[in-house]
Amino acid sequence: MDDFPLRGGIVHCEDVPLPLIAGEVGTPVYVYSTATMLRQARALKSALAGLDDPLIAFAVKANPNPAVLATFAAEGLGADVVSGGEYRRARAAGIAPERIVFSGVGKTEAEMALALEGGLSQFNLESVPEAEMLSGLALALGLEARVALRVNPDVDAGSHAKISTGAAHNKFGVAIGDALAACARIRDLPGLRLTGVAVHIGSQLTSLAPLEAAFERLGGLIRALREAGHGILTADLGGGLGLVYDPAAPPPPTPADYGAMVARATRGWETRLIFEPGRLLVGDAGVLLTTVIRIKPGPSLPFVIVDAAMNDLMRPTLYDAWHAAEAVVPNGEHMVADIVGPVCETGDTFARARRIDRVGAGELMIIRTAGAYAATMGSTYNSRPLTPEVLVNGDEWAVVRERPAAEDLLRGYKAPPWLAGKP
Ligand SMILES: *Cc1c(COP(=O)(O)O)cnc(C)c1O
Repeated sequence: MDDFPLRGGIVHCEDVPLPLIAGEVGTPVYVYSTATMLRQARALKSALAGLDDPLIAFAVKANPNPAVLATFAAEGLGADVVSGGEYRRARAAGIAPERIVFSGVGKTEAEMALALEGGLSQFNLESVPEAEMLSGLALALGLEARVALRVNPDVDAGSHAKISTGAAHNKFGVAIGDALAACARIRDLPGLRLTGVAVHIGSQLTSLAPLEAAFERLGGLIRALREAGHGILTADLGGGLGLVYDPAAPPPPTPADYGAMVARATRGWETRLIFEPGRLLVGDAGVLLTTVIRIKPGPSLPFVIVDAAMNDLMRPTLYDAWHAAEAVVPNGEHMVADIVGPVCETGDTFARARRIDRVGAGELMIIRTAGAYAATMGSTYNSRPLTPEVLVNGDEWAVVRERPAAEDLLRGYKAPPWLAGKP
């Protein structure tokens, strides 16, 4: 099922033709499908339906647009947050505190205080020094913090190096071999109640094997912790399920495959399971809609220069990510080209030597699978405004983040006294 279908020769988002949005909002613009988000969330829920009351906490960093969060909040999802800003967004979107998990290797005391006072399900702690900071804070506030220890299971997630997090040399979690000692220390810290364990080995995983290996190690740790007298009530299995970006690449596991593996790997654990899906829920729900500025002849292939750039969608230059690119009104002809943005970096390239629909200046294109780790990584590099976002729901659509006005780009800058008044 694709919520960006070609209908009457024009790519739509659900029932809305994309040229309509481009005409009213301009380009570049992100367009999100509510139907895709709901379908993905429901597919995961049904894949996990055999478990006892799992908590599905959407990884806010994948797409923190408040309208996206509100869509998931209405579906009963929780949130996995990694900063005070994400905690605030989750609460503002109506996500109940008891459905919020706070992850991240560098939580500050101020961020911990925000969540502890506002309420949350648990902090996923990543080191003993972090536990000591939280303990001091909880004591000072007269509150108890429920905590889980994130362990580093030392598995190779098999994903891109920049989004693999579960190998021993990665900064995340406590080495699984040190977890018993860390939990003993946490038990002695006042103000903390150790209730669980957590893992997250990476993102865009295309095989279940490393996840299953990590879960088996986590199961062993749960048994050892219980033998040592710890009451382990929750096990957070993180996120990481991959999507199809390139149809020629091996397909990632489905939510149903994942659910079956989880049921097998966690049999007998008797813990409440927590999941932190990000990409899976939103990646396919977004496209970046862009206009071809011009075609520039190249030495061997033409450059299709579009008005979207690496500041709008960083994944190709950051992760060498492959994204499908298509004409919004394809004419049936094809060309082989490099698709590039206007930013002054060679890395500002969306596709190289790619066979695409033939396009010309002024025509619209979409870059697919741009709902996750896309708008949220946007910057104003080259003094380009942040990209607006539109949410579609059937035949309705709304701008859910405006394009900043040109003068907004200079907001917040101040002349130092020695330059004030100079031309
Ligand atoms: C980023 C992240 C996730 C989400 O990962 P996806 O691959 O988008 O599912 C979940 N948990 C933690 C701790 C993360 O850092």
